[in-house]
Amino acid sequence: MDDKPGPRVLKFELFASCVSVDFWMTLSKKKLETFGLDASAKRISGSYTTGNSSTVSSRLDVTYDAFDDEKQHSHTLTYPAEGKLLLFNTIEAFRDCDKQQLADQEGALLWTLITSGEALEHPSMLTNFFLAGYADLKKHVYRYWFLFPAVVYPDALVHESEPLEITKIFSKECVENISDFSHRLSHEQNAFLIHQDDASFELFHLRDLPALLSKTGKITLCVCDGSAQKDNPGWPARNILALYAYYVRSHAQHHRIQLVSLRKRVLNGQTDIDHSIVMDLRVVFTPDQIREIPQTPRTVGWERDEKGRLQPRMVDLSSQMDPQKLAEQAVALNLKLMKWRLVPQLDLTLLHGTKVLLLGSGTLGCNVARCLMGWGMMNLTFVDNARVSYSNPVRQSLFTFDDCIENGLPKSQAAVQAVKRIYPGVNARGVQMNIPMPGHSVPTGMRKEVVETITQLERLIDESHVVFLLMDTRESRWLPTVIAAAKEKIVINAALGFDSFLVMRHGMRVSQRVAAKMPQYRQLGCYFCNDVVAPGNSTKDRTLDQQCTVTRPGVAMIASALAVELLVTLLTHPKGAYAPFDAKGSEDDDVESPLGIVPHQMRGFLSTHNTVLPATTAFDKCTACSEVILTNYEQRGQDFLFEVFNGSASLLEDLTGLTELHKESENTEIWDLSDNDSLSS
Ligand SMILES: [Zn+2]
Repeated sequence: MDDKPGPRVLKFELFASCVSVDFWMTLSKKKLETFGLDASAKRISGSYTTGNSSTVSSRLDVTYDAFDDEKQHSHTLTYPAEGKLLLFNTIEAFRDCDKQQLADQEGALLWTLITSGEALEHPSMLTNFFLAGYADLKKHVYRYWFLFPAVVYPDALVHESEPLEITKIFSKECVENISDFSHRLSHEQNAFLIHQDDASFELFHLRDLPALLSKTGKITLCVCDGSAQKDNPGWPARNILALYAYYVRSHAQHHRIQLVSLRKRVLNGQTDIDHSIVMDLRVVFTPDQIREIPQTPRTVGWERDEKGRLQPRMVDLSSQMDPQKLAEQAVALNLKLMKWRLVPQLDLTLLHGTKVLLLGSGTLGCNVARCLMGWGMMNLTFVDNARVSYSNPVRQSLFTFDDCIENGLPKSQAAVQAVKRIYPGVNARGVQMNIPMPGHSVPTGMRKEVVETITQLERLIDESHVVFLLMDTRESRWLPTVIAAAKEKIVINAALGFDSFLVMRHGMRVSQRVAAKMPQYRQLGCYFCNDVVAPGNSTKDRTLDQQCTVTRPGVAMIASALAVELLVTLLTHPKGAYAPFDAKGSEDDDVESPLGIVPHQMRGFLSTHNTVLPATTAFDKCTACSEVILTNYEQRGQDFLFEVFNGSASLLEDLTGLTELHKESENTEIWDLSDNDSLSS
């Protein structure tokens, strides 16, 4: 028995199709807007790359520009592949079409290119593909099958020796010549020839093959075939070798052939072909194949599916084709890039899940909402009592002229519509509400309505993680400050002067739980802690310009941005809402957030472009966050609140002991900031 192994047959690496999502999107658009029911074959194009690593199979890429006639292949390592698209109108038509017949049709065209000599001029025409499929445009599901047609000719090619790297066969100078020649050729010339005899080494176009056959010497065929495998050339080499075999069939001295599977890579800006593989091959013909004009050969090349079966592939892009989903992915990606590159500790899930209550949907509310969305915080509740007026849109970035006409839309409603236009994935709601205020007494007839309002506000604060105080009067901040302090919610407060702003976080209350867990914790102050008078009716006895403070337009934007950044920094701090801050940095346990320090207050002055970061501890006589107020609210509920609304101006001061304090000290200057920039808001 003969143990000698038989000749090793050359095998080619079939392309793996690689279709980008944007190709399917372009295809859907074309089908809907251009093709309609026209199911004739359409010209498309793809490309393949030489220079892959040996761990990946050679790909044929089809991307969004597949329909582009003017596509340029400018990249050194990329070669074009012409293709045809046959899109069936029904899945049945696609399923039932004769796949072998389609392949044979394409094979016949290839054979004509080979026998007519056209492919000698344009070798890349032999690297093509055929894409048959059916697109379910409603469900964004695509069934498709790639054919990379290759003619089965000659009968076989067998290895005569082990494949070797090009540098082991050719001198350095020859390798450089091959590289230079290949570099100078257009991308349509993916194959060329070397002719050598004892005296010469010359490079030729493929079209010179018939002329070279009559000369003595050795012919080497070079093909940029996209493969990175040592033993297997890529699919483009298959039809080129068929062409070669066709032309040498009656020249027995050329039935042995040297093939250079040309592989390019760019190293340090230089194109390098040193890892190309040289194979010594022998062409094996059947008697029929060396006839004067051989019959059209059989055609192969249908791609197998992911499981290796000869059947179509399917791609379901329903989740990716929905523009809303696309927006979601794009927004998420932007934030992920920040996490991947700059702030690995950033907890995007935490930010995404944070529910934010915006009390005030004016200049500050609009800008705060936009900045929150930038951070991926998409759970927003807008509260305001006003309607959009003609003066608003130029400063209040969520509103437009259309929101103003016919008395104007309620701001909370217009804000929700606007953020949904900006990003449909936002979870936003609007609530129209007049927040009850100390010193603004409630008539008996209104009491029921105000009771409901307070209950609703309590529920809104309950449902939120963060409360932004962005209203235009000082006293309207009192009730939410009290409720949020009692419910231990994060409060971010922003207020504006003409050319100054205050942005601060309210200190979290020292509940028993907090005191037990964090004995070192010192409560920071709230908006009212610095004040030595209780909030009252600030619009009483004031002229129009005093009631409606006009601010420099940039102030609200600066303050809004800082307010959101303060919140995000706070949320990323290891201690969260309980993050300490000492302006002097003397806190022993002070830990910075991954985004930096977490100030208590930021007071900015545009006239000097100066911002200071004061920090104050909570004031035990505060008219909003002191224990006596919170206890009264918790124990007596709305009865207490109505006393504050309807009672004497000194009620809060009497309760907290401020009245006593006043007797002891001189009145000091009071900050009173407002974000009101128009007559109506
Ligand atoms: Zn306070």
